[in-house]
Amino acid sequence: MNAPVKLEPRHETMRIAGRLADTGETIEVRNPYSGEIVGTVPAARPEHVREAFAKARAFRSALSRFERQRILQRTAELLRDRKEEFARLISAETGLCWKDALYEASRAYDVWSFAGQLTIKDDGEAFACDISPNGKARRIFTMRTPLLGVISAITPFNHPLNMVSHKLAPAIATNNRLVLKPTELTPLTALALADVLYEAGLPPEMLSVVTGNPSTMGDAMITDPDADLITFTGSVRVGKYIADKAGYRRVVLELGGNDPLIVMEDADLDKAAELAVQGATKNSGQRCTAVKRILVVESVADAFSALVLDKAKKLKCGNPADPEVDVGTVINERSAKLFEARVIDAVAKGARLLHGNDRQGALYPPTVVDHVPYDCELVREETFGPVIPMIRCPDDIGEVIRISNSTAYGLSSGVCTNRLDHITRFVTELEVGTVNVWEVPGYRTEMSPFGGIKDSGLGEKEGVVEAMKGFTHVRTYSLPWP
Ligand code: NAD
Repeated sequence: MNAPVKLEPRHETMRIAGRLADTGETIEVRNPYSGEIVGTVPAARPEHVREAFAKARAFRSALSRFERQRILQRTAELLRDRKEEFARLISAETGLCWKDALYEASRAYDVWSFAGQLTIKDDGEAFACDISPNGKARRIFTMRTPLLGVISAITPFNHPLNMVSHKLAPAIATNNRLVLKPTELTPLTALALADVLYEAGLPPEMLSVVTGNPSTMGDAMITDPDADLITFTGSVRVGKYIADKAGYRRVVLELGGNDPLIVMEDADLDKAAELAVQGATKNSGQRCTAVKRILVVESVADAFSALVLDKAKKLKCGNPADPEVDVGTVINERSAKLFEARVIDAVAKGARLLHGNDRQGALYPPTVVDHVPYDCELVREETFGPVIPMIRCPDDIGEVIRISNSTAYGLSSGVCTNRLDHITRFVTELEVGTVNVWEVPGYRTEMSPFGGIKDSGLGEKEGVVEAMKGFTHVRTYSLPWP
């Protein structure tokens, strides 16, 4: 693998239906590790957002399924060929280590390729009508049509390529037009992706990218009269604001998580400790489905805790550009300070700090904390960094499930046990969107349904299959023969 090289600052424009648009004001994007400027993007005002929606609305795509498949597959191939180029940009603007940035870049191939393959699959259904005494010799057919209006997409910083791809690829596969507002923290990857799409043949009117401060132009993304559907991935706070503000239009909210990894008395402890440490620290712990709480039963907690500590100590935290590093920075120093304070608070409430919590700027190392009270802020709220908090639970599956369900979140979970009776109870009683047995909560394919319940999400699920359904209307028509 090539060692990362330093990037020249990119001074970007927005992309509004093919126009390279500037606004006279800029936002700086800085490398969280070095503080250097990675680039600048324009700070849009509401009128720029309006222009993007109006131009998108005025365009109606006539691309055939075959043409869309070609564009999507070509995008996948261009991303694969430029994997390292994207990884450099991702690492520079997020502070993710080179290993995580490469994974982020390579994962996108699947999203785009799966969307391409699904585009050519017929999504219609047929319903015979002569099926009851009330029936007739007719048949009802369904077809899926793109939305009449435009999709408004708002994305977070933590997966700057894939969270964007999971909105764009299904939207293009279903012939929709879209206005994207990537986060102001990591907007450069999204702009680079837009250029790949145009190069692959996407009509520029189908995708506009606007950048800016949400306090200035966020409401315009939520209330534009031509926005038929808002698809948002980000925090619960902003998701609930959007739900309040959006009014009469479809809203898809993919929000925060507080996912448990549950370790029962029969678990292979070494395997469980590996899942705990990897699940809590990959992507600097900044995954909605990162392991954010480890619920381990008392009878095996001492032995498990020692294994977790041992594995966490082996991780190298440091300069994200160093290919040997396992954990780069978190998104900014403010976030790192918050994690530090939450760990100090947990310790004041009885937790024991075993490793880490020694922050340097935005570098926050894997931090192991044992005996964490299940209701302290560190584990009650979403702690979006590489903390590995262990909560010791009674040897009673009912109590484990109660503690697991005690937060407002309900995204995913991982379960370490081989007992079928335990597995059956977890699958049916955990209040989550996903239960992964012997895997991290984040395990998925880009095709499989993905999304949470409670405060973790509302509306359609993501994953290419579900998102394609969510971005269409089902139209029925009937014909007078059986
Ligand atoms: P965030 O909510 O701060 O920001 C997300 C996006 O919303 C950004 O583009 C931001 O500019 C925009 N935004 C902020 N205020 C807005 C407003 N008033 N109007 C319109 N847009 C506004 O989230 P973040 O810190 O970038 O991302 C981390 C969060 O995302 C975590 O909670 C994480 O769990 C969650 N997340 C969820 C999933 C999922 O699929 N469920 C996936 C990835 C991340």
